[in-house]
Amino acid sequence: MNWFGTNVSWVVIVIILVIVLFIAMFFPWQKLKKLKKEKSDLVNKPKNVIKDSKPEEEPAILSFMGIYNSIGKSEALRMKKLVYVLPKENSCELCQKYENEVLSLEVLDKKYLTMSEAISNGYHHIGCTHVDIDYYPGDTKIDKKIFSNEDQLKKHKVYMELFKLENEIRNLKYDLENKNSESSLQDNLNKKLLEIEEFCKKNSLQRNLEREEPEINELKKFTKYDIN
Ligand SMILES: [Zn+2]
Repeated sequence: MNWFGTNVSWVVIVIILVIVLFIAMFFPWQKLKKLKKEKSDLVNKPKNVIKDSKPEEEPAILSFMGIYNSIGKSEALRMKKLVYVLPKENSCELCQKYENEVLSLEVLDKKYLTMSEAISNGYHHIGCTHVDIDYYPGDTKIDKKIFSNEDQLKKHKVYMELFKLENEIRNLKYDLENKNSESSLQDNLNKKLLEIEEFCKKNSLQRNLEREEPEINELKKFTKYDIN
């Protein structure tokens, strides 16, 4: 296009550039940023976490927090992810030493033992039912352990025996259903059923009939044993 001998497309480009520059100079970026942050803080800041768990190295990383906040990661408000291990009345020896201990979920940590270190030393083994609770330094109160190590191991042993009995019953039932229905198998099953009944009575446990069925999934064999 040629008007008055000028190349119009150049004129258009220059005009657009001027307009863009003008908008960039006068657009209220700060205000927008502030609004965005206020909104994200409203969503992400759990009030009791912010107040007390401010880490020492705060100033250097504060700007980082801002960035994380604006993309909505509440985890970033804690400088690192920490948990502590809730004690269980039937803890095994492997897990006992980690109970009420704070573990870091970071890959490396100078102050706390990391979860992967604990796991490589036996914690969270197969069948482990320990639960990790979020830990906020200065904010989370860890209650004193109410079980003695000795009592825990005794209880653990009882549950291991219960698992063994349940497993035997499952196997016998499976064999009866799928292999053959010999009367000796049925006799063995009856004996085991009596045994588990007495065992539960003796140790004041409630029998879990679901776990005595061969179809039960692997997870349920161990996880649902918080029965009183
Ligand atoms: Zn455990």
